[in-house]
Amino acid sequence: MFHLLQSGFFWWPVFLAVFLGLAAARPARFASFVVLAVLLGFFSGLSHKDGLIGFLWMLYGAAFVVFYVPWLRRLLISNRLLSFYRRSMPEISATEREALEAGTVWWDGELFSGNPRWQQLLDLPAPKLSAEEQAFLDGPVEALCGMLDDHRICNVDKDLTPETWRFIKERGFFGMMIPKQYGGMAFSNMGHAAVILKIASRSISAALTVMIPNSVGPGKLLLKYGTQAQKDHWLPRLARGEEIPCFALTGPEAGSDAGALPDVGVVCKDGQGTLGIRLNFEKRYISMGPIATVLGVAFKLEDPEHLLGEKTHLGITLALVPAKTPGVRTGTRHDQLHMAFMNGPLYGKDVFIPMDMVIGGVEQAGKGWRMLMESLTDGRAISLPALSTATAKLATRVTSAYARVRRQFKLPISQFEGVRESLARLAGNTYAMDGARLTTLAALDAGHKPAVISAIVKYNLTDRSRQVINDAMDVHGGAALSLGPRNPLGTFHSYPQMGVTVEGHNILTRNLITFGQGAIRCHPYLLKELQAASNRDQKAARRDFDAAVMQHLSFTINNKARAFLHGLTGSHFIAVPTAPMALKWHYQQLTRMSAAFAFVTDVLLLTLRGEVKRRERLSARMADIISQLYMASAALKHYYDQGNQPGDLILVDWVCRDSLYRIQQSFDALFRNLPSRWLAASLRCVVFPLGRPYRAPSDALENQLAAAILRPSAERDRLTAGMYIPGDMQEKVKLLDEAFQKAVETRGLREKLKAAARDKTLQAKGDAQITEAVQKGLITPGEAAALRAAENLRREAIKVDDFADLKTHS
Ligand SMILES: Cc1cc2nc3c(=O)[nH]c(=O)nc-3n(C[C@H](O)[C@H](O)[C@H](O)COP(=O)(O)OP(=O)(O)OC[C@H]3O[C@@H](n4cnc5c(N)ncnc54)[C@H](O)[C@@H]3O)c2cc1C
Repeated sequence: MFHLLQSGFFWWPVFLAVFLGLAAARPARFASFVVLAVLLGFFSGLSHKDGLIGFLWMLYGAAFVVFYVPWLRRLLISNRLLSFYRRSMPEISATEREALEAGTVWWDGELFSGNPRWQQLLDLPAPKLSAEEQAFLDGPVEALCGMLDDHRICNVDKDLTPETWRFIKERGFFGMMIPKQYGGMAFSNMGHAAVILKIASRSISAALTVMIPNSVGPGKLLLKYGTQAQKDHWLPRLARGEEIPCFALTGPEAGSDAGALPDVGVVCKDGQGTLGIRLNFEKRYISMGPIATVLGVAFKLEDPEHLLGEKTHLGITLALVPAKTPGVRTGTRHDQLHMAFMNGPLYGKDVFIPMDMVIGGVEQAGKGWRMLMESLTDGRAISLPALSTATAKLATRVTSAYARVRRQFKLPISQFEGVRESLARLAGNTYAMDGARLTTLAALDAGHKPAVISAIVKYNLTDRSRQVINDAMDVHGGAALSLGPRNPLGTFHSYPQMGVTVEGHNILTRNLITFGQGAIRCHPYLLKELQAASNRDQKAARRDFDAAVMQHLSFTINNKARAFLHGLTGSHFIAVPTAPMALKWHYQQLTRMSAAFAFVTDVLLLTLRGEVKRRERLSARMADIISQLYMASAALKHYYDQGNQPGDLILVDWVCRDSLYRIQQSFDALFRNLPSRWLAASLRCVVFPLGRPYRAPSDALENQLAAAILRPSAERDRLTAGMYIPGDMQEKVKLLDEAFQKAVETRGLREKLKAAARDKTLQAKGDAQITEAVQKGLITPGEAAALRAAENLRREAIKVDDFADLKTHS
């Protein structure tokens, strides 16, 4: 026995286990040193001739010196690392720096830390509508939705009706985000999003029309950066809808790379000696551009005659240009994939604007890029998620109803497993999207401006809107293709492509922005290291870098140890919120994957360094992992905020399982494509020490999801809450809802007739069968009437449109 204790077979695993345990638990550093010293001392006593113990003592001594003799540590380690850093870390351009500095870090920072504090997320107050916002939704928004005929808007008029335009302007829809002192409604982000969502569930084109002045339109920029005179002049006019704004950044040569815009403004004086800017620009895809009365224009400002100061190239600047200014040309439209909101090019040739048209005045000249980056959050985190979720809610509502009333092979198509698969994805994705949308709104309303999260929700929600529309259209079959008032989805089919493209195309957002910026912005130490490395004061640089890098080192070791140990132990020992117990496993697995993500982030940054920017596909997989961590954690928060509704447990379960599975797939693809096989194998061993543990949601779970929306249920209502449901039976959404309701109510009667037909009690078919059933006393006349009413509604609900005025021959 003593011999066994002396052998390395005993003490080596014990030493490793204690070391890993200390690294994972991260007690006070000195305590760790004491524990390891006692352990090594004990093993030395047992096995004093073992050379490996001597080697470990040497390592221990080196580590002790590194941590407790700062001057030696700097000399041997951190100063060298600093030089290495300066040589190899990616260069950050001025525009990238401004993008990095915009906004704040919130839950994204927790996920990047590897040890998210769940209680903090759950404690964030759920977003709420004020009484005023609710009244606006129930009054003017409900009325506006009633005025909208999306088929006519998109396929016939290509515009809203004049009455609708008037209503939108007069009822203050353009001033939702403008403070009351300027005549606006001062809505919260939640209020704004709820209005956009409800309108969007009726008509995307109308929602875009309302959305643009409230998000990208220069109202918010004016509020934040405008001079008092600019605010006093423009904000009341914008709130009253007297001025229609647009914001023009994109041009033929400046799309994704918007910072490279070639439009130039030159500081000069006009004939009367007024100091101003002579501006030339060519813009395209500008929403509201064709009818805007005031254009927010981004351009590069030059001051060759030094009329403003020393600098010649002042940089990107934003100015307000009234559309009537000589030299401005507007009025033509792009046809954006059959959506009918106003969008078109803008041109400016030698347009002279006085200096006070620069947003924020001359002090803000050249600071436009930062202003733009800071205002991106609105479109990305509020408007596009509202549009995408509206699409999902509508798709879920009408598709679940249609699947119940559409019959093929003598059965409602909802009974076929293939259709249930699409229905389950619809329900699960809608829950995930609503959770991410509302959790992000909670953060915004609490004053956070999370730039990386806004990129995550933009890219993931617009991407999922593609999936939900495809699923919904698949289930509708030909009924989804035949355009007309009877098709509730046809005009929504174009939306996802637009959502994916605007505010930073998803390919760019996924491959370049999310992880590229997130790793620097949200990492607890990297930005500090980069800032220290770029400090010209060498003494301060070395001191700050040393402090950051030492913390970084123990952070990386800790995450590695935790990821590995949690992988070995099934993560059962992770302390997480425990209510309800059914979700404990999800919290634990997400914490484990967050630790793995944080560790792999560090390894990638260390091994790929500047290459990280160019290896977009690796970066995209990391973006997918952080995205899924966010989507799942938002679903858990959503479940909690909605009062832990037991019926929704299957939905949150589906979202978390789906996310964990996707995380696993992304890690797997990342490891397969790493340039170094050795590195890939060792990372795989840390992240998945016992193999890949996650499975995609099972068929059984998906069947339960489909079943939950295939009956009138609280779950179905919660999933589709906030969308517009018309009251008029002529409207397809209402008709489908009623037909669905009646189909469910009469199901038992239909089963009865079916059984009677099977045993030949009933001989007749179709409507005659109902008559025969009454005659034979199988059902009452009242039940027969209910069956007939349900069948009539069903027949009505599956009808599609045809048009006499469409050309039928050449
Ligand atoms: C309906 C609509 C409304 C719009 N409204 C406005 C508006 O009001 N104001 C305004 O200023 N602009 C507006 N835009 C413009 C919009 O912001 C741009 O379309 C968008 O930024 C993409 O630019 P692009 O279309 O020129 O695509 P491109 O820049 O040509 O990109 C083409 C493809 O290349 C990819 N790509 C480019 N660079 C990279 C890279 N480094 N890594 C990976 N992939 C890359 C992109 O992701 C994309 O998939 C609108 C566009 C549309 C379609």
